[in-house]
Amino acid sequence: AMAAEAAAPGERGDERIVVVNNLHKTYLLGVEGVAALRGVSLTIRRGEFVMLFGTSGGGKSTLLKIIGTIDRPTKGTVSVCGTRIAPATPDDELAKLRLRKLGFVFQTFNLVAGMTALENVEMPLTLQGSLSPAERNARCTSILRRVGMGDRMNHVPSQLSGGEQQRVTIARAMVHEPDLLLLDEPTGDLDSNNTETVMKILLELNRERGVT
Ligand code: ADP
Ligand code: MG
Repeated sequence: AMAAEAAAPGERGDERIVVVNNLHKTYLLGVEGVAALRGVSLTIRRGEFVMLFGTSGGGKSTLLKIIGTIDRPTKGTVSVCGTRIAPATPDDELAKLRLRKLGFVFQTFNLVAGMTALENVEMPLTLQGSLSPAERNARCTSILRRVGMGDRMNHVPSQLSGGEQQRVTIARAMVHEPDLLLLDEPTGDLDSNNTETVMKILLELNRERGVT
């Protein structure tokens, strides 16, 4: 296992944004336990672009969900954006961390069906409640243009292709300028053209905006 130390926010260029130490996750399935993770240690620094490879069922999604604080470890410690996640960390603290600092993109696009692309992207900002409607609109329009969806903003998901929907989910995950963007097989449901487009956007967001 790799060595992992406590997160050290503020150290320029060397800030450990994710520190996972001896992480175990066992799912209880009936009377048996399924060991999804057995002692994973990992450190990710701010600005890194990290890809995780492994066999199907190898625990990749489990690890992402724990780093993203939407699931909890059975054993071990996780620190994300300077917040140490313990079994007793209250849900509202985790919800705040997710809303302020994390963005998620999953394999399936999971946009809200009855809302336009623009309304979908506005949702995290509306929940945050810190911007005026005009500021919100400007921010969302700009990020949608950035992912090449400027002329599709008023379309609902059913009027968009898979690749277009995934670009909208990336815009939604990026609109509140998260420190850490987590993506679980974001191109898994896309054809090779759209995979290339989406990967290009992700690499550019990493280089231009420093999103980890
Ligand atoms: P990957 O994303 O690498 O394909 P997963 O993290 O989804 O792997 O799954 C790791 C292991 O944990 C698999 O054996 C899977 O069947 C099991 N698993 C995942 N989620 C659950 C769950 N909610 N309940 C029980 N077992 C689960
Ligand atoms: Mg998976």
